[in-house]
Amino acid sequence: MTNQPIHDGPLGPEPYLSVVIPVYNEQENLEELNRRLTAALDQAGYSYEIIYVNDGSQDESSDILARLHDEHQGRVRVIDLTRNFGQHMAVFAGFEVVRGQVVATLDADLQNYPEDVPILVARLEEGFDVVGGARQNRRDSWFRRLPSKMVNLVFGLVTRVRMKDYGCMLRAYRRHVVESMNQCVETHTYIPALANTFAQRVDEIPVRHAPRQGGESKYSLLKLLRQSFDLMTGFSFLPIHLVSLMGLLVALLGLGFGVFLFVRRLVVGPEVEGVFTLFAILFVFVGLQLLALGLLGEYVGRIYREVRRRPRYVVRRRLD
Ligand code: UDP
Ligand code: MG
Repeated sequence: MTNQPIHDGPLGPEPYLSVVIPVYNEQENLEELNRRLTAALDQAGYSYEIIYVNDGSQDESSDILARLHDEHQGRVRVIDLTRNFGQHMAVFAGFEVVRGQVVATLDADLQNYPEDVPILVARLEEGFDVVGGARQNRRDSWFRRLPSKMVNLVFGLVTRVRMKDYGCMLRAYRRHVVESMNQCVETHTYIPALANTFAQRVDEIPVRHAPRQGGESKYSLLKLLRQSFDLMTGFSFLPIHLVSLMGLLVALLGLGFGVFLFVRRLVVGPEVEGVFTLFAILFVFVGLQLLALGLLGEYVGRIYREVRRRPRYVVRRRLD
């Protein structure tokens, strides 16, 4: 593989590496991020471009990015979205315009070390399609980590690629994987899992993790909950299969219980006590039914969202 630029396009020679960074209200972090990232990539010695996707920030991020673009002509590209479309859609907006043979993603909040990007790229060059980072000593609150645990478990089952950390967005991909992902038109998706459905050789290496430098996490509890639901139904039919299985099981148990009561009536006589126990059991099943209904709704809602075919994101401005 060559580390040299290959083609000359309207934007200049194609770089070897494209780094895509979603940005949502990160004014405190952008300057330092750009400084550390460019330093690390300059040292690595290959040609690169950094694509910042401003996901509808309401703070100074947009101006700071425009300035960074002016200061680093040809290396820093900026895409401004019209409003907040969410982290993964922002990354997709970047994916659609990458030019490098290798593509890396990174958060803007400096929780990931920009210096780790060349390490991931080096690992990719050893013959992998995707290399993920697994955050060591993750510096987040427990309610931020709990949904992640669940997600790792579910995605491990669904994509059949076990990974310690599906949530880490510090990742490197070969261009063909990114292009396969670009073909997917669904709106609410999860890039690390999607990538693993296309990649053959996947690896994961430990990366450092820092507490958030400035600003605060953009994921509220509600947003996390919604995303977790979304992910469960977005990549698998396992939940709905489980519900059907449970239904079958309960029906069989009920049948057995009926037979038991019938025999008991013949032998001992009719029963009267235990009415409230019956209520308790009833409530459990009513709850399960509601859950099943809600789950069904998730799938239907997903179908509805996709058939509308709304644009996934809208670009307001591009600085190339
Ligand atoms: N982000 C974004 N749009 C959003 C939410 C987040 O572009 O709607 C960006 C954010 O600026 C950051 C990255 O996605 O660069 C990860 O966000 P955050 O650090 O808040 O998530 P956490 O670390 O809590 O998972
Ligand atoms: Mg973060």
